[in-house]
Amino acid sequence: MTATDVAREATAPGPMAPRPYRVVARRQDTHDTATLDLIPLYGEQTRWRSGQFMMLYAFGVGEIAVSISGGALPGEPLRHTIRDVGAVSHALVTSRVGDVIGVRGPFGTSWDAMDAVGGDLMFIAGGIGLAPLRPSILEAVRRRGEFRHVILLYGSRPGEGFLFTDEIEDWERNHGFTVRQGVRAGLAEMTSREEFDPLRTLTLACGPDIMMEVAAKTLVGKGVPGEKVRLSMERSMHCGIGLCGHCQLREAFLCVDGPVFSYDQLVPLLATEEL
Ligand SMILES: Cc1cc2nc3c(=O)[nH]c(=O)nc-3n(C[C@H](O)[C@H](O)[C@H](O)COP(=O)(O)OP(=O)(O)OC[C@H]3O[C@@H](n4cnc5c(N)ncnc54)[C@H](O)[C@@H]3O)c2cc1C
Repeated sequence: MTATDVAREATAPGPMAPRPYRVVARRQDTHDTATLDLIPLYGEQTRWRSGQFMMLYAFGVGEIAVSISGGALPGEPLRHTIRDVGAVSHALVTSRVGDVIGVRGPFGTSWDAMDAVGGDLMFIAGGIGLAPLRPSILEAVRRRGEFRHVILLYGSRPGEGFLFTDEIEDWERNHGFTVRQGVRAGLAEMTSREEFDPLRTLTLACGPDIMMEVAAKTLVGKGVPGEKVRLSMERSMHCGIGLCGHCQLREAFLCVDGPVFSYDQLVPLLATEEL
């Protein structure tokens, strides 16, 4: 190894070093939620899989985990949809076109929606939980002919508003999605009303814990295998690489073993607490 190699290795950015990305577009989705499109100042756009998250760093404020909501096609900017609930998310949501933010990642497991090919694909989203599902929804749109039914159950709290409303209309009208929208409490009931083949259904769900718990139990009770019910566990994460322990749940580190888990994987992890 030459001195140059040693120097390069010693200064190479690791997974804890944020890369600077510029905000190239910003869209206000609801009163407290915005979508940012990002491109790297230097180097290649990051490659990622649907369901994964990045750590976004608002300089001088802090860093949070944020799922990727779009940008899967070559040349597209990385997209994140963020709800303004605290200091860091506020700084990100209020950033403007031209601002620079730090980005680490991608981290975590993915949805693997293509496991549903030949069968039914069901998306269950609560509030901001639609954002992490969007890349897989868009994949289902692109490959619509490979699925039987595609169902979207989407709930939000009263007054919270709905995300991507123009796209949802397109998915329903032009791509044959079955869409049920309503207040969050009604999601489980919508699930039980749906017609689908339990043994040929893959469900991807993201939202508040209680919503996912009710949805998962309802589906498993109707005969959907637990392995085919996948849930994103969006709990407090700091390092993203399984070192700091903030997101540890029994033997699992949610940032590397998750955030996407099957219901079968989660049941033993959550044995002493509800979902
Ligand atoms: C894997 C993963 C993916 C995530 N993806 C997204 C995403 O795509 N978009 C997004 O907006 N957030 C996402 N989050 C949540 C995000 O990481 C932060 O937890 C959240 O933005 C709050 O951070 P903060 O520092 O702004 O507020 P904090 O100061 O940490 O919290 C302020 C207040 O808001 C409450 N709060 C924290 N998180 C939420 C929340 N998600 N909804 C409602 N109230 C909350 C806290 O309990 C506290 O009372 C994700 C989290 C994880 C672990």
